[in-house]
Amino acid sequence: MYRIKKKLSRLLFSVILLALILFYAIDFVTDKSNLHNVEIKMKLIEDELFLRQKELKIVKDEIKLIGRNDVADSEDRHDGNERNVQRKGEYGNCTCSVKDSQKVDIEMLDLYKDIPFTNADGGEWTQGWQIKYNSDDFNEVNKLKVFVVPHSHNDPGWLRTYDEYYERTTKYILYSMVNFLSSHNDMKFVWAEISFFSRWFEKLPPHWKRNIKQMVDRGQLEFVTGGWVMPDEANSHWLGVTIQLIEGQNWLKKHLNVKPKSGWAIDPFGHSATMPFLLKKSNLKNILIQRTHYEVKKRLAQDKSLEFHWRQIWDKSGKTDMFTHMMPFLSYGAPYSCGPDPRICCQFDFERLPDKGRTCKWGVQPEEITDENVVQKAQLLLDQWRKKSTLYKTRSLLVPLGDDFRYTTIGEWEDQQNLQPLENISTPFTKKIKCSLHLVATSSHMLIETTTTGVDTIHHARITSVWIVC
Ligand SMILES: [Zn+2]
Repeated sequence: MYRIKKKLSRLLFSVILLALILFYAIDFVTDKSNLHNVEIKMKLIEDELFLRQKELKIVKDEIKLIGRNDVADSEDRHDGNERNVQRKGEYGNCTCSVKDSQKVDIEMLDLYKDIPFTNADGGEWTQGWQIKYNSDDFNEVNKLKVFVVPHSHNDPGWLRTYDEYYERTTKYILYSMVNFLSSHNDMKFVWAEISFFSRWFEKLPPHWKRNIKQMVDRGQLEFVTGGWVMPDEANSHWLGVTIQLIEGQNWLKKHLNVKPKSGWAIDPFGHSATMPFLLKKSNLKNILIQRTHYEVKKRLAQDKSLEFHWRQIWDKSGKTDMFTHMMPFLSYGAPYSCGPDPRICCQFDFERLPDKGRTCKWGVQPEEITDENVVQKAQLLLDQWRKKSTLYKTRSLLVPLGDDFRYTTIGEWEDQQNLQPLENISTPFTKKIKCSLHLVATSSHMLIETTTTGVDTIHHARITSVWIVC
């Protein structure tokens, strides 16, 4: 609009100028000696008029276009119909299909309008509700499959610099990872940040590199997303996000011949719809996200819709669909990943055992698992797993086990394996509640479950250790 005003004022100025020139020209032509000069000036005026006419036409066209776009913009508001909008701008024409003609189950823009955002206190699960379930729903036929995924979140920049994190913490995590995984073939681990991993890997002697390659080939070590970093999705430009993804994934292909299949975005503050599109283009099959608004988590959990196929709004065919797992609780740390009650889950974060320096802020600290307490501990944990599983359609449950810069020492790796005695001394547990409890090592990472509605849901999970619990 500013541009149009400018053009109109220039046009007005030209008309006034023309009138003045004509006024003086009448006087001027009386002097025949200046006749030639007058002819020249008249020609200039004609040219100027012609140019102004062209400008006037452009202004008129722009005013017409603004009128049309106002109508088009009002049509953009959601009415569920397919629309193609012609836009003509400074840089040319663009035909934009702004709404998918296919029906989707959940339209996030509509969901946001529908959620009351009341911030109700849900009790032990502050942002949710008191979860109840029927124990009879879990039996020999309908077993709960729990996928425990040890992970360590390494920010390339947060409270310290990239170099400080690497030198003080990250390289020790990676060294102890190799040591522990080499001697514990049933233990698995996921890693996301290639900026750290590449720096560490490239300095290793050849036999270490071979060892790591074997771990990857065995499925013990799995790279998730494979970006240079776990990028911010709220403010970063898609080009920057793409470049870091190419950088990390190319490094993995070149050095370990790995192509990541699963996305792992546990700490970006909010999630962009562009991300699944870019990740789909990089051949990922499924993704995990965490930091969405807790009221959105609550609504999706109520509808058992925390797992879904994320579709781009402009996609008419579903070709952009990305299978997505949304974590249900406040954070990705161990207190928030086994179930709805952080007071209970924190007791199973064995890096918080009393002599470790970390504590559980909910007042109950972890204890060593012994013959005496194993039944009570197993029941506590099982209860949380079952409660969490009621938020999803399938009986496959993903339980990340880790936090920021975790698994720094062999001792910590061993502590987190503290869950293993549940298998080793499972007899009293088995007798007491008539359940079988097994620790199963598998590299399988895709399960197809049939839900009660008869709809097949593909459930991908990054697998480490698997417990099958009735
Ligand atoms: Zn982070």
